[in-house]
Amino acid sequence: MLRNKSFVKRTRKGNVVRTVKEHYLRDDIGCGYEACAHAVCAQARSEAEERAQPAAGSSGVNPAAPLSATPRDSADWGRHYLVPDTNAFVNQIDIFERPIINNVVVLGTVLDELRGLSMAVYNRVRAIVRDSGRRWYVFSNEHHRDTFAERAASESPNDRNDRAIRRAVAWLGEHLGSAQITPLLVTNDEGNLRRARDDGISACRMDECLQVYSEHPELLDMMGSVSIAERNAEDPGWTGYPEHLSPVQVQAGLKGGLLIQGTLQIAPFNYLEGSVLAAFPDGKERRVLVLGRADMNRAIQGDRVAVQILPKAQWRKAPSEALVDEDEDAVPDVDKKPAEGAVPDVAVPDAAAPPDSPARKRVRTAGGGSAAAAAAAAAAAAAAATAAADQAETESAEDAEPVKPADVADSADSAADGEPTGRVVGIIRRNWRSYCAFLDPNFAGRSARASSAPTTVSVLAMDRRIPKIRIRTRQASTLAGQRFVVAIDSWPKESRYPQGHFVRALGSAGDKATETEVLLLEHDVPFQPFTQNVRADLPAEGAAWVFDPERDQLNAGKRRDLRDLNVCSIDPPGCTDIDDALHAIELPNGNYQVGVHIADVTNFVKPGTAMDAEAAYRSTTVYLVDRRIDMLPELLGTNLCSLMSKVDRLAFSCVWELDRDANIVSVAFHKSVIHSKASFTYDEAQSRIDDPSLNDPITKSVRDLNMLAKKLRRRRMEAGALTLSSPEVRFRLENDSQDPVDVEMKALKDTNALVEEFMLLANISVARKIHEHFPDSSLLRRHPEPPAQNFDNLQHALKPLGIQLETGSSLALAQSLDRAVLPADPYFNNLLRILTTRCMMQAQYFCSGTRTPEEFRHYGLATGIYTHFTSPIRRYADVMVHRLLHASIDRDAGYGSVLTDKTKMSEQCDVLNHRHRMAQQAGRSSVELFTNLFFKGKTVEEPGYVTQILQNGFGVLIPSYGIEGVVYTASKDAPAAPALAYDQPSHALVSPDGGQAIALFQRVRVVLQVDDKPVSANVSSMRRKLSLRLVEPQVPGLSVSADELAALRAAAAAPSRADENRVVEIVTKHPDQVQTV
Ligand SMILES: [Zn+2]
Repeated sequence: MLRNKSFVKRTRKGNVVRTVKEHYLRDDIGCGYEACAHAVCAQARSEAEERAQPAAGSSGVNPAAPLSATPRDSADWGRHYLVPDTNAFVNQIDIFERPIINNVVVLGTVLDELRGLSMAVYNRVRAIVRDSGRRWYVFSNEHHRDTFAERAASESPNDRNDRAIRRAVAWLGEHLGSAQITPLLVTNDEGNLRRARDDGISACRMDECLQVYSEHPELLDMMGSVSIAERNAEDPGWTGYPEHLSPVQVQAGLKGGLLIQGTLQIAPFNYLEGSVLAAFPDGKERRVLVLGRADMNRAIQGDRVAVQILPKAQWRKAPSEALVDEDEDAVPDVDKKPAEGAVPDVAVPDAAAPPDSPARKRVRTAGGGSAAAAAAAAAAAAAAATAAADQAETESAEDAEPVKPADVADSADSAADGEPTGRVVGIIRRNWRSYCAFLDPNFAGRSARASSAPTTVSVLAMDRRIPKIRIRTRQASTLAGQRFVVAIDSWPKESRYPQGHFVRALGSAGDKATETEVLLLEHDVPFQPFTQNVRADLPAEGAAWVFDPERDQLNAGKRRDLRDLNVCSIDPPGCTDIDDALHAIELPNGNYQVGVHIADVTNFVKPGTAMDAEAAYRSTTVYLVDRRIDMLPELLGTNLCSLMSKVDRLAFSCVWELDRDANIVSVAFHKSVIHSKASFTYDEAQSRIDDPSLNDPITKSVRDLNMLAKKLRRRRMEAGALTLSSPEVRFRLENDSQDPVDVEMKALKDTNALVEEFMLLANISVARKIHEHFPDSSLLRRHPEPPAQNFDNLQHALKPLGIQLETGSSLALAQSLDRAVLPADPYFNNLLRILTTRCMMQAQYFCSGTRTPEEFRHYGLATGIYTHFTSPIRRYADVMVHRLLHASIDRDAGYGSVLTDKTKMSEQCDVLNHRHRMAQQAGRSSVELFTNLFFKGKTVEEPGYVTQILQNGFGVLIPSYGIEGVVYTASKDAPAAPALAYDQPSHALVSPDGGQAIALFQRVRVVLQVDDKPVSANVSSMRRKLSLRLVEPQVPGLSVSADELAALRAAAAAPSRADENRVVEIVTKHPDQVQTV
């Protein structure tokens, strides 16, 4: 039976298009009930059983009829299946994902609507349906002869769909009547609910249907929704945020040159300081500060926003080092009692801003005028659309003349103007995600703990850049001291904080497993096990896979046999994912043949497969202190692709002829098969080089490589490559518990440099080759030159030491870094390199067709072109580059559509850059977690160096552990009289009488402790910060007193050094990450 079904679709541009599809109606669709006696249903069941035979699922659930004969039973509806409507899924997908929610019928109509409304929710629903343990069933009501609903002429598509849904539920009700099972329509649409009940259909709201799950009170918590009345009761003086501009007004304002747009980034040390990097009319990118919650106007970290630039009088003239301890924010709102018309959220604590600092002035000027000015901004942008912009600003305060972006261009260089500030007038795209959070400890202290009645509570995100979130919960008593996930639902302008709901519990704060899950979630690291679909793309032979000359195209001439070469690999101890191996041979003409052999991952990971899609999504392997989260399944990463010794392995080889001075004479690339002769650790390789009694071919090969690497390195340095530094930590973990037993700074060996040198050479050679073949769609990596201003604070601090950094070029910088030595302090140069690294820009992947060749430059490596080729097991960029390189040398190579489409490749680059950044941050967070675990309950006194000056504190690096923390100069106990205050001219912290100062590079002594107050006591301990206290120099009112120090020293049990036999050593940075490049 064939029907035409017409759809009205709204296109992306907003046009309405009518499409007609041929529509088949069928009479062989089953109802999904596992014991249904109807002939059609039994038939569908047995057919599915036959099809499922080869891969019989272990769950025993028939995919054609997964709905249970014994579903949940309730007093109101008896045994029932849930049939949610579209909005129920959109609003409550978090609840439906809970494994407890089973026996759900997903109507075809609902799926169609979901696909149009939210692909994210659609995919999540599909994922549940696929999970055979869940007993969810898609009932194709749109194709069922008895449930299809023709659209009436007068009917809107929405009404038609609602009717189709009710019709399907009614039919299922009749069909299942004899089995005494009720299909229960779940909808929060009052109209639909009423009409359903009028038709005699069982229907209920979401919260009603969750009553059946009374043993899971958290499900009701996940309904969220804090009422306006409750919000107002808590914030009696709150006057609300200004209205956002509509999307049309925002577009008009951007087009008319009145607004700028960019992504809001909140400073990690100050949640009240945001900034937006925006393109200005003159083509330059500039940073515009957005200070305080009032001007952020409900935008949060990562949102794409439209910003109006504030009058010049409100621009900021001081450096941005303000620091706000989040404890200050934990003061219960009810105690704040904001004054009428004030902007209570710009509550910069007095201690954080010295009396006359612009930050503090900003607080005062913001009062009163802000809402009106933003309203004026709204009016202004709207007026732009109607070409009547000029009269709009009449109601704003005296000098509150917003600055047009075009006018910023001419004056931005003038230091007197300060840095532009702005306010958010509209949100272009929200970037809300799920947040790991904990209960506001202050709230927990005063709430009705024992009560299980729903209460509204504040939760704090682990990410301190995110504002407090209000949720409604029945579990306030059990959530104290816990980590859990929350989602934001909305941020109405009447509400000071966003509103959200509880999603799921993670576990106790401070627990290693819980905290590790937190850091993975917070850094958006996909860490679930690989799905069956992905594993199905692995070689069928599994671990028994061996090289086959026929299958692997050796015989077809597509692969070179290099098994007789003396190839070896050099890696950190315990390395199991070996993606590179090397060889060198002296040639009869006195030159050298050098080969870099990289795991041939793309031989196993083909474009278009589920495994390729998963690797592209993960983008990188993530290294934590105690574990690795792989980009590729272990069978490939640590076995079939890993270039281990004594087995045949497929490789992609880059082979040069180098002269005795390591100049490239020629280069060739080919797929190969190698047979590595040895897997060395750095130490083993080094001792071979150093042992004169060894002269076997492999040792000779390593020695030649080392000799050539030194020449390559010298030439690179002469060209201006930077030797930068970052503090690195090495943990020793107890074998059984994986608890840290020791932590120390790691030392680099000569042989690390050897491997690095040839990897750089291979990456550069490959970059040239693929760019030659694919000038517009090569995947490259660039490192932009840092602007001179990035070095301002550093230069300032170096001046008293008689040192100046030359930042004009990387060569000048490299040379001035080499000269910057203090004979009295051997660590100084390393420290300077660490701080210089922090002035650098981020290196990034990009598609060659989107940049000019001048922009390809890699500043840190001093090379004109660069890419990543050498780590395909753990970086997806390298997988893409392997495909490009293969296509450059072999016309027949298949490489997938992403590599020929500039847009697709740019999108993939965005993913790669994001994942790469997140992986680095996750690694750092893991170090921080283990550092805190290590120092818990210990008190250690150590020398350190000042690495950062903040308005109310200073950062200290402790070289012996490679860790960094902050000494606060103002405590909550004495916020009014800080012992040291920020002094702008000297960029230092000075005492009121000017007698004491703390400046960058200064040597200090500190006591380290991890706050081990009860976990629910305060925000700091919930975030588990390492606390540092100053011992030397002695600053009255700040340093630890002599008595206290004596007591601490007496009580301090020095951390016990590890028993060598019981520990494994973990280097927190993979050598590849040392490059940062
Ligand atoms: Zn049936």
